[in-house]
Amino acid sequence: MLRRILLSVADHKRVENALRTPAAARAVVQRFVAGETAAQAVAMGSALATGGLGVTYNFLGEYQSDPERIERSCDAFVGFARLLEDRGLGGPQSELSLKLSALGQLHGPDGPARALDRARRICTAALAAGVLVTLDMEDHTTTDSTLEIARELRRDFPLTGVAVQAALRRSPADCADLRAAGARVRLVKGAYREPDSVALRSRADVDRAYVRCLRTLFEGDARPLVATHDPRLIEIGSELARRHGRSPQGFEYQMLFGVRSAEQRRLAAAGHSVRVYLPFGPDWYGYFARRLAERPANTLFFLRALARP
Ligand code: FAD
Repeated sequence: MLRRILLSVADHKRVENALRTPAAARAVVQRFVAGETAAQAVAMGSALATGGLGVTYNFLGEYQSDPERIERSCDAFVGFARLLEDRGLGGPQSELSLKLSALGQLHGPDGPARALDRARRICTAALAAGVLVTLDMEDHTTTDSTLEIARELRRDFPLTGVAVQAALRRSPADCADLRAAGARVRLVKGAYREPDSVALRSRADVDRAYVRCLRTLFEGDARPLVATHDPRLIEIGSELARRHGRSPQGFEYQMLFGVRSAEQRRLAAAGHSVRVYLPFGPDWYGYFARRLAERPANTLFFLRALARP
């Protein structure tokens, strides 16, 4: 119930403005978001890299229709790839994560083609810096278009990754296609409120689907990016890696900044490749609301911080 309410206010401007003001609220937001500027993201990313962790940088923003802001978002990613290289953070330990809706994917009939062009520009800058690129997966209305754009990008940038949401009924088939293509696949449970016609509802069903997708990815040449904080699924990932003789370079664990940080360090110390998803930028609200929706305890912590004088 709480999850549904939080997801429904995820795009609500008035709630966002109310949260921007109190210092206590900002402090809680900072648990999940590196900061509003590229400099803050680089400083945090550098600290994580020093601790032996890979980093996925996400310049926050989604569902953009203003052409100027779309261009600005694209330029920000291009500039950020160069900044990473300048600061000695180039190379595959760094990754950029793109939300295609921020690059104009949903803006008019030629939206997907224009978003592909912009993603290409970003991939070109990322490649020059040796940095990887992965496409986030947004709500189910964008899945076909995002997978198609990922396919196009892989022609010129074969290491381009894409996220797949285990909650979607279609995902086992998508994983089989991506396995055949040998793609980098970030497998997540799925963070969007979706209709029953396209998505599994119960946690147990989603977890079962996650394992099924994971098995598919480990069986072939895909590079599984096991993006979950769920201890059971992390253990199953390790077991599948052992069974299929994957080296630590052959798959990786991915977790969100601010969630199970001790586990991130533990897995890295045990020799696994671990990458932290580090969001930054002024448009943090939608991302933050989804993180609260995932865990009632986060919401209570947040409401307590708001109530503090
Ligand atoms: P859960 O069952 O939700 O959580 C398992 C345990 O992890 C919980 O019991 C708790 O201990 C801890 N935990 C989980 N979430 C939180 C939290 N917010 N705060 C505190 N503790 C928590 N979703 C998309 O739809 N598209 C994407 O492109 C996408 N990219 C992602 C990239 C990465 C690297 C990760 C880790 C997640 C991404 N997600 C994405 C979000 C994902 O879909 C889930 O909503 C999220 O990861 C929670 O699911 P879980 O697998 O951690 O399992």
